Amino acid sequence: SYRKGGYHAVRIGDPFASGRYIAQRKLGWGQFSTVWLAYDTQTSKYVALKIQKSAQQFAQAAIHEIEVLCAIADGDPSNSKCTVRLIDHFKHAGPNGQHPCMVLEFLGDSLLQLIRFNRYKGLELNKVREICKCVLIALDYLHRELGIIHTDLKPENILLFSTIDPAKDPIRSGLTPILERPEGGTLNGGSTMNIIEKKLKRRAKRAVANISGRRDSMGGAAAKPARCLDGIDMRCKVVDFGNACWADKRFAEEIQTRQYRAPEVILQSGYTFSVDMWSFACIAFELSTGDMMFAPKTGEGFSEDEDHLALMMELLGKMPRKIAVGGARSKDFFDRHGDLKRIRRLKNLPLDRLLVTKYKFSDTDAREFREFLSPLLDFSPEKRPTAQQCLQHPWLNLRSSDGKSKVDAGMSKLKI
Ligand code: ATP
Ligand code: MG
Ligand code: MG
Repeated sequence: SYRKGGYHAVRIGDPFASGRYIAQRKLGWGQFSTVWLAYDTQTSKYVALKIQKSAQQFAQAAIHEIEVLCAIADGDPSNSKCTVRLIDHFKHAGPNGQHPCMVLEFLGDSLLQLIRFNRYKGLELNKVREICKCVLIALDYLHRELGIIHTDLKPENILLFSTIDPAKDPIRSGLTPILERPEGGTLNGGSTMNIIEKKLKRRAKRAVANISGRRDSMGGAAAKPARCLDGIDMRCKVVDFGNACWADKRFAEEIQTRQYRAPEVILQSGYTFSVDMWSFACIAFELSTGDMMFAPKTGEGFSEDEDHLALMMELLGKMPRKIAVGGARSKDFFDRHGDLKRIRRLKNLPLDRLLVTKYKFSDTDAREFREFLSPLLDFSPEKRPTAQQCLQHPWLNLRSSDGKSKVDAGMSKLKI
């Protein structure tokens, strides 16, 4: 992808925007961009520099993302709405073309990394509540005040705060700014190995071990205890507005990442803000159990979409006939009675029973969590509570003394 129209190759120490920002190390990447930690020489702060691929369609997408990010920043001058802040944007000319660049506030690990770090054990419910509050504040702001649907809410797109400011505390954070390209620095951040990079490498190795043990609940990585996350501030922000849209200007029919996709999107019955509420519920479940709520697969004689609908009905009960047959794609999956055509026998394992039997929740925790989640997973999109209503739910202010994920006191901190 490092060719004309593709990613821009970056070396550690490279200057951007006439020398204002200096590349430090790679933070992540996506289909559209690579994201770099950069040092802002004007403010002496670290920022995240998202460098888009240069081809026409990517540049167009960046213009749209910048437009959304500007609306988000304009409506939230005090930066308190749990959405990532755009600091600056510009174009960078390189051998592969003109790359739109976004300068964003520097955040920490994603919730996906948090789940992996915790070895897929599920976080304490009190921590899940803290994260849920932040995400709901973001959704309420986007939906009610801006009229924006995120459409790609998932653990990867929610980042924790980096609790240490590297500019103030370079030793503890392991980040001392690199101000120019080191001798012999190789392409894409391969050469300068500071403390953080070493830590991240070690952590990545553990994460790989964990992924392979994910579905094996009896042995291997899964047998290890969860890590202690005591003292880690669970505040977070929603990022990646590349697919976001204004509710009155929707452009894509197929939205959302598979596992977080709402039923009306699969059925193509039209969608609105409530698709984000569905994804939010899937994320809350995953945080508290370590497992995805729905992980559909193609099978013999049925598609991934059909498996997905079947999994939903096994957990949430049968879809009302009117909804099942009401979408543009309904005929692909359902007969006229509202039964799946190719998956005839459905299991029945309601949410609170699953939480107790598989995830060892106490009866009370399971009941309370189900009361919070199940309205968000209503098959009728208009019946789902809004983010504003959800913020009033008593579950968010409960405190439980669940002992299910406390072990290994003193383990290393998650974020730098
Ligand atoms: P996608 O293919 O998901 O659309 P994308 O090219 O739009 O990806 P992002 O999802 O915005 O890119 O960012 C890619 C990754 O970079 C994130 O998953 C995260 O690891 C990292 N990242 C993005 N923004 C920040 C930030 N503000 N602070 C720290 N890391 C970030
Ligand atoms: Mg992303
Ligand atoms: Mg994106």
